[in-house]
Amino acid sequence: MPAYEAVIGLETHVQIKTGSKMFCSCPNKYGEPPNTLVCPICMGFPGALPVPNKQAIRKTVESGMLLNCRIAPYSKFDRKNYFYADMAKSFQLSQLDQPLCLGGKVRIGGKGFSGADIPEREVQLNRIHLEEDVAKLSHKGNATTVDFNRCSLALMEIVTEPDLRSADEVYCYLTNLKQILQYGDISDCDQEKGQMRCDVNVSIRPVGSDKLGTKAEIKNLNSTRAAHRAVEYEIWRQVKELEAGGSIVQETRGWNDDTGESYSMRNKETVDDYRYFPEPDLMPVYLTDAYIGEIRAALPQLPEQLRERFVREYGLTEYDAQVLTQEKALADYFCKAVQLVKNPKILSNWIQTELLRELAAAGATIGACPVSPDKLAELVSMIDAGTINGRIGKVVFTEMFTTGKDAKTVVDEKGLVQVSDSGAIETFVDQVIAENPSQVEQYKSGNPKVIQFLVGQTMKLSKGKANPPMCLELLKKKLD
Ligand SMILES: [Zn+2]
Repeated sequence: MPAYEAVIGLETHVQIKTGSKMFCSCPNKYGEPPNTLVCPICMGFPGALPVPNKQAIRKTVESGMLLNCRIAPYSKFDRKNYFYADMAKSFQLSQLDQPLCLGGKVRIGGKGFSGADIPEREVQLNRIHLEEDVAKLSHKGNATTVDFNRCSLALMEIVTEPDLRSADEVYCYLTNLKQILQYGDISDCDQEKGQMRCDVNVSIRPVGSDKLGTKAEIKNLNSTRAAHRAVEYEIWRQVKELEAGGSIVQETRGWNDDTGESYSMRNKETVDDYRYFPEPDLMPVYLTDAYIGEIRAALPQLPEQLRERFVREYGLTEYDAQVLTQEKALADYFCKAVQLVKNPKILSNWIQTELLRELAAAGATIGACPVSPDKLAELVSMIDAGTINGRIGKVVFTEMFTTGKDAKTVVDEKGLVQVSDSGAIETFVDQVIAENPSQVEQYKSGNPKVIQFLVGQTMKLSKGKANPPMCLELLKKKLD
């Protein structure tokens, strides 16, 4: 049985964060009543003229820079003609042979979704072009409804070379791509809102062969997880087909996420089927060196650079830096709070444990966190200074999270200031020794672990407010 390798290419559609649509002034807004954000231009009325969206062009150029593409000084728009209910004009404005960005690469590596290791390498991009989104069709039973609010939103298509080899690589590529675009403020890439969708081209060939096999394209995968599943399934399907003596048909397939299977939709169209021609109603796009240089100078920091800075400037571990940069909003939160504390490591621990735990429990995002960066910084500083201990800190934090109050208010209201007065602690220690004779005996006869129990009792007696290292020290002094 020959072993096969998969050859996978991706086309990822990303809605660009713009105020208005790609060629008209209709607003870019999600969740409005269907067909309320439309005008003669995006509905393709005769005589309506498109005007390109400057912000969309700029963000596409920024994306190209963040993804290491060459920026084309000259590009143009083309009409892609087709007849379907998702486009009232019967053509989509896109870029065929002269896109805004050429080439490019995205780093992948680390642990894959399945747990297997992915070798560190760069996935080669072919291009990024700018186009307009199509309307959203919803199928229910025999009926189909159409919503044109989404029609003509600015859409980037990021095309890879057939350079990916496994479902894990696809997952990693999409995750890293999403992170870069979010950091660049290009798109929120909210997959629930359809802001990032991809088509995957999958073929297989015997290991060692450099000839490409016949590919099938699976359309419209709405999540990174679905892309992973679809690629895994499609590789399995093609191997099974060839092993049974069959052959692969070049076709477009759909994906059913409920059954976990792909299904045949139609034979694949070729470029000729779309009768592309240059859009006569739009001028070509010329980008000056000054414009390109100005955008390059203002590019935001990417997670990789930020991680390197967190390790170098704040002495965090690679792992800590990794967790903190997973989401841009979280990295921003840390960057704000870290300016206000003396000990970045404690802050990083608090964000990774307490903050992320409370957020997950509340089902909230960091953007909606009731504890602002300066409030968390205050709490961490109080712990660092010994005003309260870590255990009380957790109680205070939970209270801050539920009420939105600041740390000092909660500590004052509840009288939680740490007891570091040795006289007061000694009283607690004496009482604990008197009340626990058998544990004291065990300790004295050579079981050192019992001391932790006695520390615990002392803390309990102080209602958690005693300084734990002082309790330990005093107990040892009295018993040793
Ligand atoms: Zn419009």
